[in-house]
Amino acid sequence: MCRWRTWSSSARKQSRGPLAVFFISDLHLCASRPEINRIFFEFLRGPARDAESLYILGDLFEYWAGDDDLDDPFNASVISALAECSRAGPAVHVMHGNRDFLLSGDFARACNARLIADPHPLDLFKTPTLLMHGDTLCTDDRDYQEFRAKVRAPARIKDFLALPLGQRKEQIEVMRRASESEKKRKAPVLMDVNTGAVEAVFREHGYPRLIHGHTHRPARHEHRVDGRTCERWVLADWYRTGSYLRCDERGCAPVQIL
Ligand code: MN
Repeated sequence: MCRWRTWSSSARKQSRGPLAVFFISDLHLCASRPEINRIFFEFLRGPARDAESLYILGDLFEYWAGDDDLDDPFNASVISALAECSRAGPAVHVMHGNRDFLLSGDFARACNARLIADPHPLDLFKTPTLLMHGDTLCTDDRDYQEFRAKVRAPARIKDFLALPLGQRKEQIEVMRRASESEKKRKAPVLMDVNTGAVEAVFREHGYPRLIHGHTHRPARHEHRVDGRTCERWVLADWYRTGSYLRCDERGCAPVQIL
């Protein structure tokens, strides 16, 4: 193995080779997609353990009805896989996506992970980096932004979580079906980020590197903002296969899991 970088003073890190931080998003895990679940569990048992940190930038789950659903057999399998991974190596951080924004403290404790806010600033090997799910950047989709503000209002969340679990799952199923048919109707450009919104984020946060998911359009973009070149990585979804963005001292590169 090529050991080109400075070793950390921590023995635990030393045993795992050069430091790297991994980013994933948009796995949309659910019991009905066993192949992707298998790839994810293998990722957690394999490559993820070499990371210093693993950041899950939203939509880990296709939906999340509330932390009282931890015992659902499928949810429990994901949680124990995450807990095992984080105990064996990387610090696991979870950001809300638009599908799983009800993930809360009990979930985080159960999988030995930390919930992080959106946006989350990170010093990534001395490059200031901002982590986001990405849906807040899609400002051209006004209907979505209106829906987002409505369902994320604290009073609405409180009322929703007060419903019996079964009823919440039914309501989510209705919303998911409506969202699927709406997506087919919407112009693709509406569902991508708005360049002005991206530039505003770069400006507001001091021109960092930006890493986000949500749009399912994996790419590396460069933005010229106020005469500075800013880098934006868009993470891939986990529909056909899995992938992660691997960052180390030298920079970031996407890795596809075959
Ligand atoms: Mn999303």
